[in-house]
Amino acid sequence: MNPQQLLEKSKKYMWLPFTQMSDYEQNPLIIESGEGVIVKDVFGKEYLDANSSLWLNVHGHRKKELDDAIKKQLDLIAHSTLLGAANVPSIKLAEKLIEIAPEGLTRVFYSDNGATAVEIAVKMAYQYWQNKGVNEKTKFVTLSNGYHGDTVGSMSVGSIELYHKVYTSLLFDSLVIPFPSIYRHSSMDGQVVRNESLQSLRKLLEKQHSEIAGMMVEPMLQGAGGMNVMPKGYLKGVEALCREFNILLIVDEVATGFGRTGKMFAVEHEGVRPDLMTVAKGITGGYLPVAATLASEEIYEAFYGEYEEMKTFFHGHSYTGNQLGCAAGLANLEIFEKEGLVQQAMEKADLISELFEGLKELEHVGDIRQCGMMCGIELVKDRATKELFPFELRVGYQSTLKMRELGMLTRPLGDVIVFMPPLAATHNQLKEMVSILKQGIVWATTEYARVNR
Ligand SMILES: *Cc1c(COP(=O)(O)O)cnc(C)c1O
Repeated sequence: MNPQQLLEKSKKYMWLPFTQMSDYEQNPLIIESGEGVIVKDVFGKEYLDANSSLWLNVHGHRKKELDDAIKKQLDLIAHSTLLGAANVPSIKLAEKLIEIAPEGLTRVFYSDNGATAVEIAVKMAYQYWQNKGVNEKTKFVTLSNGYHGDTVGSMSVGSIELYHKVYTSLLFDSLVIPFPSIYRHSSMDGQVVRNESLQSLRKLLEKQHSEIAGMMVEPMLQGAGGMNVMPKGYLKGVEALCREFNILLIVDEVATGFGRTGKMFAVEHEGVRPDLMTVAKGITGGYLPVAATLASEEIYEAFYGEYEEMKTFFHGHSYTGNQLGCAAGLANLEIFEKEGLVQQAMEKADLISELFEGLKELEHVGDIRQCGMMCGIELVKDRATKELFPFELRVGYQSTLKMRELGMLTRPLGDVIVFMPPLAATHNQLKEMVSILKQGIVWATTEYARVNR
């Protein structure tokens, strides 16, 4: 099939995720290969992978150690079921995960993507209380603009109007408290925002803790909701309230895990110890669909007993614990150790914030948010009033199209431009990326916005 035929057929047969297909028809893109932080389309045009192929990729594409680990596993077996049986790489990866996970997490339950890992955490938390005979603890607390995946359960503990509104009557109710957004708060003072938000959580828990099973939170940085960074001390405050009112703390590290924030896991920034933790995206270095829900021994034990006691966790997926994926996961963590990648990520995060200095002066950059190598740049029509550009103008989308033209890929969240390069990106590559980022933003917020006003 030549590139032109591929284009036609992609438009004829495909239905892409999170994509308005009329947009795709106008701006199709077909990736064929990749090397390091560069991906190449079928016409041979190269792009810097500035969002890590949607927040997944860690070491760049075609990383030799990962390629080799998968090939080696392929010579043994590709997949066998984890239902009632274990397999070799899944055991080794589980041990490694527990070794690097926050203290108190002792058990690994595999699945195959972030949404399923969250779904599992929600069901575990729910059944935990049921198994203990605490039948009224059935609800979940979540933060506004939280994102935990797209299945019905994970949407129910999420809170993004654009994605979730149409399904409202299909979802179970969660208790939503406002995310402590510094930029959108009149004080713009982290401490004030933190205290206010923790106070509202305390009020809610005082009233309803007896019916609450757990609190679901994206630690330190809320991803899909707009790359929103929590004020310092907020997560620690949430943990303290969860303990005080005896509800489970579930942290969703699907996006933030594996070095992305400058720590192996984001909870480490504040020494937080969750009861349940979900991981996915970076777990295989962005190679294969593996996810895991990590649980404390206390939770595990509530499910343990004789079959007749009806405590079993009846949940699983066909590809749970896939051997190729777990082999990649294991190799991924070995590279982390060998290359001191978490430390590197921290240093690169400093370089990124230096490079961002050149964005601050731009007329339409309202806010720059960053936690390690996870960054969001919020574009606004008016910096003084924080007024947004009109929705129809799609300034964020337009600026990323311009970046694509200039040889860099990322996707916006509304008018927040996501910048989340692979941890392996070099200093020079980061410089080049931020330069393209700037050009795309400038073009869309000035020339484009003026002509299409
Ligand atoms: C991406 C994401 C998910 C969903 O993961 P999928 O693998 O896309 O299902 C869940 N939670 C967070 C925080 C995410 O960023």
